[in-house]
Amino acid sequence: MIRPIKRHQNASLEHSSRQADSKSLSAHQQQLDRYHMQNCLDLIKDNYDQTVDVPVAAAIINEAQEVIGESINQSITNNDPTAHAEIAVIRQACLRQGNYRLSKCTLYVTLEPCLMCFSACMHARVDRIVFAASDYKVGILSQAVYPKIHAAGNHHFCWTGGVLADTASQRIQDFFRLNCRQ
Ligand SMILES: [Zn+2]
Repeated sequence: MIRPIKRHQNASLEHSSRQADSKSLSAHQQQLDRYHMQNCLDLIKDNYDQTVDVPVAAAIINEAQEVIGESINQSITNNDPTAHAEIAVIRQACLRQGNYRLSKCTLYVTLEPCLMCFSACMHARVDRIVFAASDYKVGILSQAVYPKIHAAGNHHFCWTGGVLADTASQRIQDFFRLNCRQ
């Protein structure tokens, strides 16, 4: 699903070559991050059958703050273990841009990326990753192994975690509570 391009009003993207938590970003950037993450959370609300896939949504925003890809997790729906939201949005954004690189783009996702999605971001040269809830089982950015991978790679990007994390975590907890009852 690709919706028409949306543009955030008065938007400008700040770039950083360092890892950054929310507190170190400008108030404007924090506002942009919350805006795009809220759109991801709204995507879950609008599209999810809570009995199927784990509710995770992602979006890719280009330098002009346009949404060039947005999707929810569809692994179970599509019988495809690679159909994580991040992979879907990378595919959409690359098709839309006619380029297999996503330089100067930011990927927003409501759950910390796994190794597969992190690697896809590296291959796509995504400029920045912003996630909401941490994934302490398979999330890669907050794991101890991350600095080693980061140091070994030839593409370095900035990432920020914890944006609207409580709401994103609640969506996932609600999903598992509902499904455990069945
Ligand atoms: Zn993933």
